[in-house]
Amino acid sequence: MVASSVLGFPRIGANREVKKAVEAYWAGKISVDDLTKAAADVKKASWTSIKERGVDFIPSGEFSLYDHVLDHSAAFNVIPKRYVGHGLSPIDVYFAMGRGRQADGVDVPASEMKKWFDSNYHFVVPEVSEQTEFKLNFNKAVEEFKEAKAVGVSTRPVVLGPVSFLVLSKASKEASAGFQPISLLPKLLPIYKTLLADLKAAGAEWVQIDEPILVLDTASALEKQYATAYEALSPIAPKIMLTTYFSRLDSNLSFIAKLPVAGLHIDLDRAPGQLDEVLAAVKPTSIVLSLGLVSGRNIWKADFAAAIKLGQKAIDSLGADRVIVATSSSLLHTPVTLASEKKLTAEQKDWFSFALEKSAEVAVIAAALSGSQDAAVTAALEANKTSIAKRREFESTSDDTVRKRVAAITPDQLERKSPFAVRKEIQAKHLNLPKFPTTTIGSFPQTKEIRQARAKLGKGEITTEEYDKFIEKEIETVVRFQEKTGLDLLVHGEPERNDMVQYFGEQLNGFVFTQNAWVQSYGSRYVRPPIIVSDVSRPGPMTVRWSSYAQSITKKPMKGMLTGPVTILNWSFPRADVSRELQSKQLALALRDEVVDLEKAGISAIQVDEPAIREGLPLRRSDWDAYLKWAVDSFKLSTAGVTDQLQTHSHFCYSDFDDIFPSIQRLDADVISIEASKSDMKLLNTFKQYGYSNQIGPGVYDIHSPRVPGDQEIKDRLAAMLAILPDSLLFVNPDCGLKTRGWTETEASLVNLVNAAKWARQTY
Ligand code: GLN
Ligand code: ZN
Repeated sequence: MVASSVLGFPRIGANREVKKAVEAYWAGKISVDDLTKAAADVKKASWTSIKERGVDFIPSGEFSLYDHVLDHSAAFNVIPKRYVGHGLSPIDVYFAMGRGRQADGVDVPASEMKKWFDSNYHFVVPEVSEQTEFKLNFNKAVEEFKEAKAVGVSTRPVVLGPVSFLVLSKASKEASAGFQPISLLPKLLPIYKTLLADLKAAGAEWVQIDEPILVLDTASALEKQYATAYEALSPIAPKIMLTTYFSRLDSNLSFIAKLPVAGLHIDLDRAPGQLDEVLAAVKPTSIVLSLGLVSGRNIWKADFAAAIKLGQKAIDSLGADRVIVATSSSLLHTPVTLASEKKLTAEQKDWFSFALEKSAEVAVIAAALSGSQDAAVTAALEANKTSIAKRREFESTSDDTVRKRVAAITPDQLERKSPFAVRKEIQAKHLNLPKFPTTTIGSFPQTKEIRQARAKLGKGEITTEEYDKFIEKEIETVVRFQEKTGLDLLVHGEPERNDMVQYFGEQLNGFVFTQNAWVQSYGSRYVRPPIIVSDVSRPGPMTVRWSSYAQSITKKPMKGMLTGPVTILNWSFPRADVSRELQSKQLALALRDEVVDLEKAGISAIQVDEPAIREGLPLRRSDWDAYLKWAVDSFKLSTAGVTDQLQTHSHFCYSDFDDIFPSIQRLDADVISIEASKSDMKLLNTFKQYGYSNQIGPGVYDIHSPRVPGDQEIKDRLAAMLAILPDSLLFVNPDCGLKTRGWTETEASLVNLVNAAKWARQTY
């Protein structure tokens, strides 16, 4: 018999119960017990509904109130000193690590967050040093295993593996130079031994140990550590399903197949080509192979016939008892259920599959591979065949105008008219900004009033005219605030945008939208990615109306604000039938037209945000060049249609530039704003080292937390930045948009930011 398995499940709850409870707890509106109860209800619902779909291996322990990596840090006592000694309860220490805390005399910033591999999920980076003393504060894996058992579901607990945990960690400030977190492995293993032995004692037959690091090139240097870890753990642990996802094992396979584990999970959605190699490597062992056949990263229905073919190949080689049909990764990156979608057409709904539907898919594929004659299985196979055929038919109808325009792109369309040095002079005259110009990244607080107005418009309770008037008033408030505060390059505040990707998707051809398809970005922040279903084009201007209104009410220059092609692509669910490159170029052409229209409307600076350009980077280095070529070309295509006097900006909310530096330079944006406040300015050194030539606004404070940066704190940052960067290149701005913040902290922070810039103008 072929078994089925789900590697992890969305945490939000079908009706966003967990997000709501977590935020209510933060606001002091509910107690810890209420929060625990809300979480328990959602976990129970997930476990039972996965079980009802007929899945054999059901995950537990991967649920989280904020982030699963943070859960491990808290459990292992990896708690930076700055969060200790304030008299906070364990859960408040946990949340303080995730989002910072500024209340009752406690003032601590959030820990650094990083993107989880190539996804838009962010994890909280553990901080370790030689002084780190691991301790098992609690055993979440055991607790949730028992919790599931108590509601009648037997689960396969999930833990993040010790090697991946350490590789994902960073050296804390206390660490000595050259300290490598992985050197702590001997100290960490006893904790895992306890954790896993307790799990076995609690009755777990299997444990899923995630080692996603194994799909990276860097894992090849970790062969010894992997051997040490798994030789120590497997004798005392439940049967270990060593789990990899998001890419291929490649040469790491040679040592992975030798590890003393009972099972190995591979991602056949992202890397179907690795099946033969893996089969050959595990055949002589007794390893059970878990095939990631149902995508954990997209929302398209699995093609059962194709999956069955791969599954059959594995069975032919290993026998049915050594094969499991699984989701390719955790379903964390997909929405909960298609059942919540009331507005998709029947045709569209038939194309998709969300987490619960995917759970049913693994069960059906496994049943089919086991030779089931069950009527329900046969019917499911037939229905899938029809759905897939219908989608293929839809895919074959393309928009010829768009396809031809993409095919006709020429190299000169990617380049500005003059080089940066020339443009800089022209723009200085045109924009007339002071030294160290202050600006923001675009959005201002998305208040309850704004969300309510949008909801009312959606329900038809107010007219479009009333809504537009309301938005104009919001823009005016934001403009007047910036004038009063003394910012130099203004923004309109983006009140009209529900989301930086959805807003554009809604105005472009080729997208469909969901009502409830939320996917976790970080903590309690969820996004609802649009779905690209066909060729993309722009029926008409998208932002010109708001940007020109904003410019019409002020004498200060107004920055237009767009989301870049690569980010729209990466933060949408892309089509699976054509390349990402083609989809990106189609988006770039649509944005190019918008940029040209904005300039025509009198806008003199335009920011095209590309925060996702880096996360789209393939995990294997050998795939990087191809990606960077089309990604950077797409950005250039979208921005290069303007005159020299237009100042182009771009924005990235991250700090790992070392390895993609030449591509950032090749974008040739006149100004880029980047995250710098949480990463100890290590990236500025990168810019210096590589001799970056264009202007930069390194974020002077972290907007992901409600904490207000002090006046002196910003001055110190500017001083540190100016010790590295030339005066003439520096812009002063926060490290990201302000939409998730309240007005109180926004006002206080920006006043301090402007003061600090004024101080810098006098001092430097
Ligand atoms: N312009 C966007 C904003 O200010 C950028 C957001 C982002 O980088 N994630 O919200
Ligand atoms: Zn950002």
